[in-house]
Amino acid sequence: MEEVKKMKRVMFYGPKDIRVEESEIPKAKAGEVIIKNKVTLTCGTDVKTYMRGYRYEPPFPMGHEAAGIVYEVGEGVTTFKVGDRVVAHNSAPCNKCYYCKKGQHSMCVDLFQNQFTNGAYAQYQKIPARIVEQNMFHVPDNMNYKQAALLEPLSCAIYGVDETPFDIGDTVCINGCGPIGLMFVRMCYLRGARVIACDLSETRLEKARILGAAETVNVSETKDQVADVRKLTEDGRGVDAAIEAAGLPEVWNMALNMVRPGGFMLAFGGTKKDQTIAIDTYKMHYEQLTIKGVFHTTPKHVNAAFEMLKMNAISEKDFVQNEYQIEDIEKAILEHASGKVIKNAIIYND
Ligand SMILES: [Zn+2]
Ligand SMILES: [Zn+2]
Repeated sequence: MEEVKKMKRVMFYGPKDIRVEESEIPKAKAGEVIIKNKVTLTCGTDVKTYMRGYRYEPPFPMGHEAAGIVYEVGEGVTTFKVGDRVVAHNSAPCNKCYYCKKGQHSMCVDLFQNQFTNGAYAQYQKIPARIVEQNMFHVPDNMNYKQAALLEPLSCAIYGVDETPFDIGDTVCINGCGPIGLMFVRMCYLRGARVIACDLSETRLEKARILGAAETVNVSETKDQVADVRKLTEDGRGVDAAIEAAGLPEVWNMALNMVRPGGFMLAFGGTKKDQTIAIDTYKMHYEQLTIKGVFHTTPKHVNAAFEMLKMNAISEKDFVQNEYQIEDIEKAILEHASGKVIKNAIIYND
């Protein structure tokens, strides 16, 4: 009889109740790939999940930013072979539903049912066929695993930037400088914006300046964030575009109010359910404001993110601080939550 091989993975049982458990190493069915993970990165979504749960019924496996080596390939997989260094994004659209046909891939009705991989805090991880086909990449020899594992968050930031209209030399304000907020800072800077970054952590603002922010506002030191941002624009007219990357309704509000007439606000940060903001309808109409929501990302932007990682336009050296073993997952997530680090890495020994 074949010996059953075991691995460790992190399971979510409820808020502040996550456990490292043993389970069987998954097997690859047709079209699927099993990756032996080398690194998994902590993410703001993990922090939110840890604190208050996620969209699935617990228990469920946690983590979604990993890179590693191909361990097994299912029947019919030709683009990857055992031993390849790879990174896989955590979703892929069906390309058949109404929304996919409309080109709105992040609204795909089947993005999260069968074709979403959760469970990247694990020694091994199964990648569904659709992701193998659309959103999995060979990692070049000169790219390390931490750099590769930045694929998912960067692809979300790049989607957001792509949806934000601004010209070279325009002023763009990023509200919230967590890992994705900092990626917004970098990508907007590289696209020619004068970036204003807002956050309450001096560590993060320092990083924002390194990544290209021309100005920073520490919101823990100001009474009026909107006024302070406006003061940094000519005649206080407001910024050309404001990006919300905090996921808090009060920050949505501030982002909208710091935009100039004719300007644009990107609602990127996901809030809790049943939250609302009040909109000044007079201002919205006479100042011709635009608000746009964005969610997750699309294969086009995942591909773009991988190209940017190859160019080192974003470097893991700026984003990933400490290394932990899988047993210390809680510590790694809590340190991420504290804002003392941008991200942490879980490293797997052989
Ligand atoms: Zn993430
Ligand atoms: Zn679809």
